[in-house]
Amino acid sequence: MASIYIETFGCQMNEADSQYIANRASASGYAVTADAAQATVVVLNTCTVRDNAEKRAYGRMAHFKALKAANPSVKIVVCGCLAEQDRDRMQGKAPYVDAVFGTRDLARLGDALAEWHDAFAEDDEDLTEQRLLVDPLGGRGDCVGDAFAHVRAFVNVQRGCSYYCTYCIVPHVRGRFDNRPIGDILAECRRAIERGAREITLVGQTVNAYAEPASGADFADLLVAVAALDGLDRLTFLTSHPKDYTAKLAATMGALPQLNPRFHLPVQCGSDPILRRMNRKYTVANYRDKIALFRETCPDWALTTDLIVAFPGESDDDFEATLALCDEIGFAQAFMFVYSPRRGTPAALWDQIAPEIGNERLRRLAAVVDRHVRAWHERKRGTVVRALVQGPSRKDPAKIAAKTIDNVTVIAPLGSFSQAELAVRPWIDVRVDEAFTWGCAGELLATAERYDGAARRVDARATIDLIALR
Ligand code: SF4
Repeated sequence: MASIYIETFGCQMNEADSQYIANRASASGYAVTADAAQATVVVLNTCTVRDNAEKRAYGRMAHFKALKAANPSVKIVVCGCLAEQDRDRMQGKAPYVDAVFGTRDLARLGDALAEWHDAFAEDDEDLTEQRLLVDPLGGRGDCVGDAFAHVRAFVNVQRGCSYYCTYCIVPHVRGRFDNRPIGDILAECRRAIERGAREITLVGQTVNAYAEPASGADFADLLVAVAALDGLDRLTFLTSHPKDYTAKLAATMGALPQLNPRFHLPVQCGSDPILRRMNRKYTVANYRDKIALFRETCPDWALTTDLIVAFPGESDDDFEATLALCDEIGFAQAFMFVYSPRRGTPAALWDQIAPEIGNERLRRLAAVVDRHVRAWHERKRGTVVRALVQGPSRKDPAKIAAKTIDNVTVIAPLGSFSQAELAVRPWIDVRVDEAFTWGCAGELLATAERYDGAARRVDARATIDLIALR
């Protein structure tokens, strides 16, 4: 039988694209496999946002070459941002790759899968024998339907970005803003809800710059439309730009009860000269104003961010300003990086800061950020939180991992609950006993089918409403 293996690098846009590829493949009769050695088509969905991601992608391609050597009918496919960026030189660097699809070619990839499908059915027996010759490849395929795959859906609302931050490769490989019509987005959300999604994440590189091509409806209008869908438990979105956080959007966020109380608003750094060099289009004072607006309309929400240290030209004073801003705002979570030059972007041509300085700055920043993250988690200790199941804990399969609606990881022993029960009742009530920087741990008390639904306790499986305890 034709089967597809998909390995994904990078952001949630890529995860959503991989889900699209998996759906198209399944519709054409492929099985989605977690093991590359069992696949007739191997897809690598790549990222170029950091040098490391690019190196890893080429490393994985080299691994997959062995599959091709064992059976030339196996198709190796590369898509995503690296495919867009290196389309011309990939043939030279990885000649065994059969097809390269850029970020705007996913529909063509889906069509190619359908075309290839029948040929694989005939080759199947040969493949099985030759696979035995291949050394273990490592890695685990994405989009393989596990018991909880249906509970979350990522829906792309927009491709590309027109803002050209001087460090970012995205506009160069994904192109300028290309917003989907609201009708298409709503139709995809409805399909996800029908498949059992409890939570939908609207994703875009600059999601709050969304503007519907035909009507001009903005992101706040889109949120209202999606939140009104029947059967939707929770709604959230990633990633926003401070420039496009308007009073209208702030008011809409505060007024929609379906929205998860978590807002991701990248600040990147706390120094105006560096923000200018980054072409971020706001000042520290602008960012503070946006946060004041946010706190006014969404007082109990978690605020999370992205930060870059050692950007070209960042002085000790610039970095200290970033530390001070992070301490002042107290983010509930932050993704922190040492600047990584990307070929084809302006900042890659500027004088670079030594890696040891970047690493030291990252360490100092993490110490400040982690203190606030831990404090956010400590607030949950002793309370009962309702969280959406993710799956068995990677470190201990006897425990279940879940995310609260403000995006905090919680872990609890499964106890007498079965995975089958959690697949149907994926909201879990956990009493938080411990708080860490990575999240919280506690005891699983009950499950619920819907976010606002009645809880079923572990002891008698009696239906008791635990919401009041939260
Ligand atoms: S806003 Fe800047 S960092 Fe974000 S995708 Fe656009 S260019 Fe890249």
